[in-house]
Amino acid sequence: MAGNTVRDEALSVCAVCLSVDNHPLYRGLVQCESCGFVWFPVSTADLNRLNVYRDEYFHGGSYPDYLTEEHALRRSFRDVLHTVRRFAPSGKLLEVGCAYGFFLDSAKAYFDVVGIDVNSTACTVAQERFGVRTIAGDFLACDFSKSQFDVVVCLATLEHLARPDLYVEKLSRLIKPGGYSVCWTIDRDALFARLSGRFWRYIYPPEHLSYFSHQTLALLLKRFGLHICFWKRPFNYRNLDVVMRKLSKSRFTEWLYTALDRSGVIRREMRVPFRDDILVIARKSLHVMDAGRE
Ligand SMILES: [Zn+2]
Repeated sequence: MAGNTVRDEALSVCAVCLSVDNHPLYRGLVQCESCGFVWFPVSTADLNRLNVYRDEYFHGGSYPDYLTEEHALRRSFRDVLHTVRRFAPSGKLLEVGCAYGFFLDSAKAYFDVVGIDVNSTACTVAQERFGVRTIAGDFLACDFSKSQFDVVVCLATLEHLARPDLYVEKLSRLIKPGGYSVCWTIDRDALFARLSGRFWRYIYPPEHLSYFSHQTLALLLKRFGLHICFWKRPFNYRNLDVVMRKLSKSRFTEWLYTALDRSGVIRREMRVPFRDDILVIARKSLHVMDAGRE
């Protein structure tokens, strides 16, 4: 085994397979020797101190302006909804990390929806604008009764978590036997991610902490009684300026950004060509007594 560089014991445990054998990868990331999962080790205390998901996150942080991207984001979400309904056409749906409620607003035509997000401003806006029920707070601390949802959705959420295992364990508990989890996350196994290596556009801790592949996500879901029944690399619609900002900085990309900005093209909606996200639908076993004890 390669030397374990993570000194804090809690941070050195792989959230997917619980192995403590890992090696440094690049840019502060570490990789599990056993299952290949990649993560950025950071303590909860440090994350709390950084307070990444305050209002600025949606307006000038990771998103230049989340609300101006509404049209593009809704397009991606409609595709997700269409796929989800092939498995679960209706019922009770929870979205973990619902932001401003764009997905919930589309889903409410078919599902009885509720969303939860750590950003209280986003939750209030979603509630007032779309009349959907939202809860502001930490999903792990939230008291839902178990086995009540037909579908639990996590869109662009897992990659932001230091302990995705705790989230998957909890969401699995909340899903009815035979119900579905729907996860959209970044895919380090995608061709573009593999070609980009250390320069992959999605590597930016402390926002992105967990870097899944199809294989590691399947392992984690299975640990908590969720079995993949469908997956694809979905088309992602975003505004061009957001895609440009995520590319690695070079004189060429800076020049290109400025030129596109001047022409006004930069705020156009586009289908992101990289296909480095993954959408996974997993079904909860009918006979799981409790999550994680299959
Ligand atoms: Zn592992």
